[in-house]
Amino acid sequence: MSRWALAVMTAGLISLGGAAWAQPAPAPSAPAPAPPGPPDYSKVTVTTTDLGHRTWMLQGLGGNITVAVADDGVIMVDSEFAPLHDKIKAAIGALSPQPIRYLVDTHLHGDHTGGNAAFAADGASVVAHANVKTRLAAGTFNALSGAKTPPAPAAALPTMTYDSDHLTLTLKGRKAELGHIPAAHTDGDTHVWFADANVLATGDIVSVGSRYPNIDVASGGNIKGMIAGVDAFLAMTNADSRIVPGHGPVMTRAALQDYRGVLATARDRVAGLIAKGQSEDQAVAAAPLADLDVKVGATPQASINFVRLIYRSLKS
Ligand SMILES: [Zn+2]
Repeated sequence: MSRWALAVMTAGLISLGGAAWAQPAPAPSAPAPAPPGPPDYSKVTVTTTDLGHRTWMLQGLGGNITVAVADDGVIMVDSEFAPLHDKIKAAIGALSPQPIRYLVDTHLHGDHTGGNAAFAADGASVVAHANVKTRLAAGTFNALSGAKTPPAPAAALPTMTYDSDHLTLTLKGRKAELGHIPAAHTDGDTHVWFADANVLATGDIVSVGSRYPNIDVASGGNIKGMIAGVDAFLAMTNADSRIVPGHGPVMTRAALQDYRGVLATARDRVAGLIAKGQSEDQAVAAAPLADLDVKVGATPQASINFVRLIYRSLKS
């Protein structure tokens, strides 16, 4: 079974485990289903995709990881779940004997930040936008299901934060340019541009593969920022760029343009229903994304969730 199929199959489990990327429960009033057990991490395999110029994508379970090797250390972007630390560390060790100097969190969700404590204990500086640290320390909740994620322990918090729109990390022979898009997937999103490799790691502002992206409106996310983020990514990249999305396979700029079209179409249709005075439930009942659901390969529940999150974005 592909990693992707595994991720899709376990998506429901993960959302109840606290990571908000998965498609959560339907209506706000619906009773929460009984929590299933956690994923079997022992069955997860970490695969490595070579992006050239000492840069790789790693995929296990959860968000994609990007790895850039310098002469004196390694920069990694995201770390999936805590129990996968040893497998991820081994996969990086197969690429370079250098220590992991920086772990960048693209945002707060547990399928991207789960390795924070363990990689920090290994000696990495954990770098994130300041809002990631604030929200991890406070605890979060899922706007659709109401599921709560408790405050993270101090050891799992970022150790180096920035609150502007930009931060550059430099190692010998490599540079990672971190950028912040306000109020997009969350209010603490960081993307990472490796100009020397023409590789962009987007975090969950871009999420593809038989799904719609999640918009964590409870953590400051908004469809308008999602689209603004994609526009920024389109401006940074060219036809030869490789784009590592938060979830799904490596993308070209053309695929990113296509993704932008899906977001903008969905936004426009929900905005049209709001303009007609329809309530959130009426907008859901109108099934405004039916053709996009087929194009994207999204489930009916995923479509409902996406309409609700866009509706709440545009109403906020
Ligand atoms: Zn996420």
